[in-house]
Amino acid sequence: MATKRKMREEWLLNNEFRPWLRCVEADSTRARCITCKKEFGAELSTIKRHKASHMHVCNEARQQQGMDGVSTSKVSRKMFTILVMPCTFCHYQLPILMPKDYSQSYR
Ligand SMILES: [Zn+2]
Repeated sequence: MATKRKMREEWLLNNEFRPWLRCVEADSTRARCITCKKEFGAELSTIKRHKASHMHVCNEARQQQGMDGVSTSKVSRKMFTILVMPCTFCHYQLPILMPKDYSQSYR
């Protein structure tokens, strides 16, 4: 175990890694993510860490959605729900305040 860790064939066959993990032909101690176009050390912990990284998760999600434009519009729709909806409730003083008003008028 004195030698550097090398890429293992079983990792390349693992369903978790198979879609994006490739070996670096010139250097068997390095692995490559084809989704992020990034290289890192061929150690299981490094590979797992890369899989869980924000960058990889984002890139994978983007790839699954096919186009960048689709994911952007999905994000902005979500932002609309988070940011604009509460403002709309405040602006029109909708149901959030209603129960309080009712309880006051019936006392
Ligand atoms: Zn990646």
